[in-house]
Amino acid sequence: MNCKIGLIYGDGIGPEIVREAKKVLDVLAAKYGHTFAYTKLLLGGASIDACGVPLTEETIEQAKACDAVLMGSIGGDARTSPWYRLEPSRRPEAGLLGIRKALNLFANLRPAYLYDELRGACPLREDISAAGFDLLIMRELTGGLYFGERRTEEVNGVLTAVDTLSYNENEIRRIAKRAFDIAMKRNKKVCSVDKANVLDSSRLWRKVVEEVAKDYPEVALSHMYVDNCAMQLVMNPAQFDVILTENMFGDILSDEASMVTGSIGMLSSASLNDTRFGLYEPSHGSAPDIAGQDKANPIATILSAAMMLRYSFDLDREADAVEAAVRSVLKEGYRTGDIMSEGCTYTGTEKMGSLIADRV
Ligand code: NAD
Repeated sequence: MNCKIGLIYGDGIGPEIVREAKKVLDVLAAKYGHTFAYTKLLLGGASIDACGVPLTEETIEQAKACDAVLMGSIGGDARTSPWYRLEPSRRPEAGLLGIRKALNLFANLRPAYLYDELRGACPLREDISAAGFDLLIMRELTGGLYFGERRTEEVNGVLTAVDTLSYNENEIRRIAKRAFDIAMKRNKKVCSVDKANVLDSSRLWRKVVEEVAKDYPEVALSHMYVDNCAMQLVMNPAQFDVILTENMFGDILSDEASMVTGSIGMLSSASLNDTRFGLYEPSHGSAPDIAGQDKANPIATILSAAMMLRYSFDLDREADAVEAAVRSVLKEGYRTGDIMSEGCTYTGTEKMGSLIADRV
């Protein structure tokens, strides 16, 4: 297969971790007979330094010409970096919001998986973590409360703020379809999370999700209120496969789900539009405190590359090989500093990438 991959090296630890993910992809391409052609794209701080703005039209056009984009994190230390003396619309993070919008990336996927070997880092009670979990949060990313009309005004002498939560049926249908498609590649369960006992937007959400479910008879659909879901994620995360939810609920629940794994350096993510295109990136930030020191854990980025293989290229066998290589390296006891525990072998960024590449 021939694939055009955009690489955004990004800021802080970004270049180090993307380099390792590319190393794994190159070994995989040679082994399975694929051709991956890379285009380097500028975004965030690196783009400000080179072009004066965090996102250029050129980057957008280059990204559109790729089949998928793999990204390290962007941004710097807000207290010391000159990027944060710029007005907010010219700072690194504005580039990320801009590219998500330009590419219409409305579906955000964040898997939370508990590795046997990292169970010690899981903050949940042992009898809960013993059951393990392997879930994926599918969050709507371009609608809802964060994009609705908002204002602050004085009403009868009292300062009043208004935010609007609005969804139309088309926005709900397209994200629901994505969730069911992805459930078909996993354990065929979708739990749709809403607040349908209170919100009109949630009642419409539930109705449309039920309509979409009719096209996926193999997938078991359930519904859960968001407050209950927040509790269930810490009481019994093993019950979930795909959790489908709107923007703000997903923002909160996906952070909760990632924290119960206990290992920020392990968490991948993807943002998809309604083509096969996706932007794949680790869930963590650019960790300026450890940048350039060969200390960063590259696994989240390597697992993001595995998501790219699975969801943009339909290369499930190759994605399985990358995930199995990660498991194997952990089983052999290799650890970067963030996931280090007694009796394990300390490994820097570069070595961790090489160990995984050797095992794909
Ligand atoms: P962060 O995730 O960068 O770091 C939090 C802590 O986790 C730090 O101690 C860091 O050293 C550690 N850490 C993070 N990733 C790690 C890895 N792969 N291996 C080992 N340790 C790791 O969060 P922050 O410090 O709040 O943010 C730093 C910068 O990143 C900010 O500019 C922020 O805006 C940006 N950021 C970018 C993204 C993105 O690109 N999507 C997401 C979050 C934060």
